Amino acid sequence: QSGDARAAQIPRYVRVNTTMWTLPDAVKYFTSQGFTLGTSLDASKTFVKDEHIPDLLLFPPQTTFHEDAAYKSGKLILQDKASCFPAVVLAPPARKDAVVIDATAAPGNKTTHLSALMRNMGKLYAFERDRKRFGTLTMMVSRAGCTNVEPVNSDFLTTDPLDDKFAKVTHILLDPSCSGSGIINRLDHLLETEEDNQEAQEDRLNKLASFQLMMIRHAMKFPKASRIVYSTCSVHATENERVVRAALLSDEASAGLFRLAPREDVLPKWHRRGMPEEMTIPEDATSLVRCSPGEDATNGFFVSCFVRQEVEVPSSN
Ligand code: SAM
Repeated sequence: QSGDARAAQIPRYVRVNTTMWTLPDAVKYFTSQGFTLGTSLDASKTFVKDEHIPDLLLFPPQTTFHEDAAYKSGKLILQDKASCFPAVVLAPPARKDAVVIDATAAPGNKTTHLSALMRNMGKLYAFERDRKRFGTLTMMVSRAGCTNVEPVNSDFLTTDPLDDKFAKVTHILLDPSCSGSGIINRLDHLLETEEDNQEAQEDRLNKLASFQLMMIRHAMKFPKASRIVYSTCSVHATENERVVRAALLSDEASAGLFRLAPREDVLPKWHRRGMPEEMTIPEDATSLVRCSPGEDATNGFFVSCFVRQEVEVPSSN
């Protein structure tokens, strides 16, 4: 089946931007537009609530929203289901004193999601090193009404984790550049490349993996970081399990006592997990989430979550 044919089977996912709107109001709005809230997408003018992601609605694949008033005003965000996983797994705090980083933010789908989960409170630094993409990010953040976001046009790797302004950062999202091999519309093209030039492909993946590992190790240097989510839209173990495995063995992970969050803390109800054969401890794969393009009604995706182990301070009496 071609990428286009597979894409045509993926529901149209719409995330309600709870910074500006509520789920019940969105449901009322769609009902007034002639849609019926149902339990499956069998009929054409139906929509359903997603079973894993709160505030995510599913519409039949051919439904379009680009001219929709609620979409244009920022109340709705068109975002694949799998790409909603990282913010939900990071579960940033909704508190006035919360400080969170989105290290690789543009175009801003996950930034606006994080901001909504923080209920627009505290501070969310959104880094983006590319100038043009940074423009898109600032536009999206402002259209979505995210006033707790501070977009920063710089390279996350050049930030000083010991800078005072990052002293209270507890949660970090890393969704760095990757091969994009899980994106369904790109699959055909990638298959051809794979056949044409295996060696060049491997070389490219290894370079991406070194960069991705650097990003995780840098995030682990933030003194109060207690939860770090690393995600990709790649299907390759080189960019996924192998990067996580190397990160767990890094000096930064040992110094910060980072380990993988257990399955019950990482979308426990999602069926597809990581590849055990790629991990030093095979059971660690249950902590990892994978989405398989074509099989899960999403693009291909990978999510992992590192947490800092609590150290028990012995009591003095
Ligand atoms: N999280 C985004 C979203 O959901 O809309 C998508 C992020 S995209 C996969 C990766 C982004 O990270 C690109 O825009 C890229 O320019 C940016 N990037 C890559 N390396 C970076 C770095 N070292 N510091 C800041 N941004 C970086």
